Amino acid sequence: MDLHWIDASPSEEEREAVDAVLGAPSEHDTPGASLEEHVIRGGHALAQEQRHLLLPALHGVQGAIGWVSKGALNYICRRLTVPPAEAYGVASFYALLSTEARPPRVAHICDDIACKLKGADEICRTMSDRFGPPGSANGESTWYRSPCLGQCERAPAVLFQLAGENDWEMAPSSPDAIEKALVGKQDRLALPSSTPQTRTPRSNGLHLLRRVGIADPESLDDYRSHRGFRGLRRALELGPTGIIREVKDSRIRGRGGAAFPMGIKWEAVAQAPVRPHYLVCNADESEPGTFKDRVLMEEDPFAVIEAMAIAGFATGCETGYLYIRGEYPHATARLTQAIEQARNRGFLGDNVMGEGFRFDINLRRGAGAYICGEETALFNSIEGYRGEPRNKPPFPTQEGLFRKPTVVNNVETLINVIDIVLEGGTAFATIGTDDSTGPKLFCLSGAVERPGLYEVPFGTTLKELIELAGGVIGRKKLKTVLLGGAAGSFVSPDEINIPLTFDGTRSIGASLGSGVIMVFDEEANLLDTVLRIAAFFRDESCGQCVPCRVGTVRQEEALQRLARHPHMESAETEKALIEEVALVMRDASICGLGQTAANVVQSALERNLFSHNGNGAGKSNL
Ligand code: SF4
Repeated sequence: MDLHWIDASPSEEEREAVDAVLGAPSEHDTPGASLEEHVIRGGHALAQEQRHLLLPALHGVQGAIGWVSKGALNYICRRLTVPPAEAYGVASFYALLSTEARPPRVAHICDDIACKLKGADEICRTMSDRFGPPGSANGESTWYRSPCLGQCERAPAVLFQLAGENDWEMAPSSPDAIEKALVGKQDRLALPSSTPQTRTPRSNGLHLLRRVGIADPESLDDYRSHRGFRGLRRALELGPTGIIREVKDSRIRGRGGAAFPMGIKWEAVAQAPVRPHYLVCNADESEPGTFKDRVLMEEDPFAVIEAMAIAGFATGCETGYLYIRGEYPHATARLTQAIEQARNRGFLGDNVMGEGFRFDINLRRGAGAYICGEETALFNSIEGYRGEPRNKPPFPTQEGLFRKPTVVNNVETLINVIDIVLEGGTAFATIGTDDSTGPKLFCLSGAVERPGLYEVPFGTTLKELIELAGGVIGRKKLKTVLLGGAAGSFVSPDEINIPLTFDGTRSIGASLGSGVIMVFDEEANLLDTVLRIAAFFRDESCGQCVPCRVGTVRQEEALQRLARHPHMESAETEKALIEEVALVMRDASICGLGQTAANVVQSALERNLFSHNGNGAGKSNL
């Protein structure tokens, strides 16, 4: 696309919004200077240094004005020395940024699988009746359908973007409450506490959730009174080599889906000769059905900070980036104030705990792109580029953020390190099983009596966990369980005795993924669910490689035909096409999105979950 925006100027309000993020303009930012003049004055080095501020600047305008105009984009480009075509490419990449004028009050209504099970389609129909189709202007307001907002345990959920105000989430929601908020007659509602959902009969043995619902998440002193920052003190005594030894002894593997041994990753970065090293906490959990990191960040934000400081110390990083998904404003607010308190009290900064160790955290917000949970896409996003995955190798431990050695872990994985240094790696390894050590968080949602976040040791069976959550709602029969999220797979009722470990799930061709356990009862329409997942992948594919870009479209089309004509002979042809497309996507896609986009569809076909002569429901009555 050829862009000719040279004359588009920002309004005073837009200029202020950008300056609030980037600071007052310097002598390099002469109003009216062309981009070329700006580059000459500021230099390309300056451009390189500032490019990472592109996404925060776009957020600044979006938040203040409600959309990013050409004039605002031009001004950002001039300030940061970024070509407008590139900045437009970035702005148009993210779902929570709008490059088209739209009303200032927007509701993003989740219609993803967990919310669908709780009436999201009915909410969307009511919104259509009252406000018109998605995206149509109705006075100051509009609404859109949204992929998973990570509020599955309190579904149905909605996210509000209101120009000039902070974003906020409402869950559970209703058409009346959404309408009131959109027309300004509803103050923001406090989200229900996560506490009731996190309590389990095993609460005496909690590790990751031990402070959730108990310690005040806004008080550093309260965190300290619940053993807070003792892990960091112990880590400073152990030294980097000692910490990494404990982490290796713990045999902990990453909790984000890839299950890579954490100690090996940390050691590789610690020993990398190239400097500086970076730490990235991946808090962009966007896998539909996943909300565990959100609860940790909302309810125990100082633990995230402590764990990051330990990781930074062990791996030689002075700077950590915490990349949080844009759909989590409440968690973002909690972390922002926690980082500020930690900095003021000497737990972050130039002299952490008075021990001469320098470490600080940059909080970065995503803007609505599932693919940014992929680590290299996340690096590009932080650096101010489109969040598209990079080819690997080189791996992040060699060339990661800003092309420097980088250690990346998600929130849950990182928080484990506090116990590992306090209790010792060997003691940690006694929890769980031989191949899967430690405690594990599982996100239970859908048709269970008590949806929520559950902590159990690895090795607990799927059946036990569903029973822990009260069993299938209304004592209906279990039809299937979606294990691992949209990139995971369905599990039949006769498979629910599998132990939840990396090996145990692999034995039935499934994976733990990010810990999603979504339960479907005998009345669930699985074809509808699978169609939603197929649409999700088609929408979230970054489009960079053909197998995924085209394959996700073809997969959805074949499923739609299957839904329209389930009994026709052509159904077998469609299933064969789905198989073929799946094979190509798995073998030839660059990243995990394309490689796993067909998992759910295939597992549904294998287990005959679309059959019309019955519903596939098993005998279990949990
Ligand atoms: Fe992008 Fe899909 Fe290719 Fe991943 S597999 S790089 S999401 S097009």
